[in-house]
Amino acid sequence: MSRSYSRSLHCTRRRALAWLGAGAAASLCPAPCLAGKGPPQEFSFLVITDTHVGYRGQASAAAQWVQTAKELTAARGDFVLHLGDIVDGGRDDQYPIYLETRKLIGKPVHEVPGNHDPAAMFEKHIRKPIDMVLDHKGVRFLLVNNSRPDSHDGFFSAAQLDWIDRQCGEAARKGLYVVLCSHVPVHENKHPDRGWHVKPADGQKELYALAARHKEQLIAMLHGHFHNGVRGWEDRGPLQEICFPSALYNEDRKLAEQKAPGYYLAEFRPGFVQVDVKAERLVLRYKPLGVTQTADRVCRFDA
Ligand SMILES: [Zn+2]
Repeated sequence: MSRSYSRSLHCTRRRALAWLGAGAAASLCPAPCLAGKGPPQEFSFLVITDTHVGYRGQASAAAQWVQTAKELTAARGDFVLHLGDIVDGGRDDQYPIYLETRKLIGKPVHEVPGNHDPAAMFEKHIRKPIDMVLDHKGVRFLLVNNSRPDSHDGFFSAAQLDWIDRQCGEAARKGLYVVLCSHVPVHENKHPDRGWHVKPADGQKELYALAARHKEQLIAMLHGHFHNGVRGWEDRGPLQEICFPSALYNEDRKLAEQKAPGYYLAEFRPGFVQVDVKAERLVLRYKPLGVTQTADRVCRFDA
């Protein structure tokens, strides 16, 4: 699939939302457009990832996590998503340190495991069952574990794909958008990128087929894992696929010079992202730790 990914011409939910976003009164929209509850309310949430507490057996990552937590306290967002690699190397004793600092944030925090978070550790310290649904102001967030400690690639099981499919179907009936959150990106990438993603045989093919079936619902897939600042792709129609910056360290992989497809921001300091949800777009505001200026990116899902 490519940019030719077709958009139906009839009155889609997205068109209805765009219209509402432009100020049209809900009562003017023909009934089929408003099968659900209407557009999501505008809101903001915060995204962090790859805190790697216990990195290299030293206390520096834990100290940086304290600084991150303090800045998240002051930041605008209804909740915080952590996209995985909470601790480094599955260190059992680092989860309580992570959780103690998390209390500083004063907002709900929802994590997905990364390849550094073995499922058993995640279940012990964070949440059980791991895969969960969070409905918030017109958006259904699906938090799904697609990591394995023995691989940098991502994996969706048949049971997970079936679950995601059912969640999207239910979201359609309820008039909710869907955002899929998993540590490892689905989008193909190779050098100069990391080359880590969900390979076709490991659920990528089925997930993209599912995304096409639910294209009116599934607006974005959010990931961590890359330590590469904000790095994204939008070559499957309006579906936004975004890797988020590590709160510990990021690397400039000189993607522009090497003509890598997709986009990224020229910012690589450790930080977090405030995501503003609007009627037809997500606005990403990448805030490095210790500075006030953000690097921004507008992601339209009604393209
Ligand atoms: Zn990772």
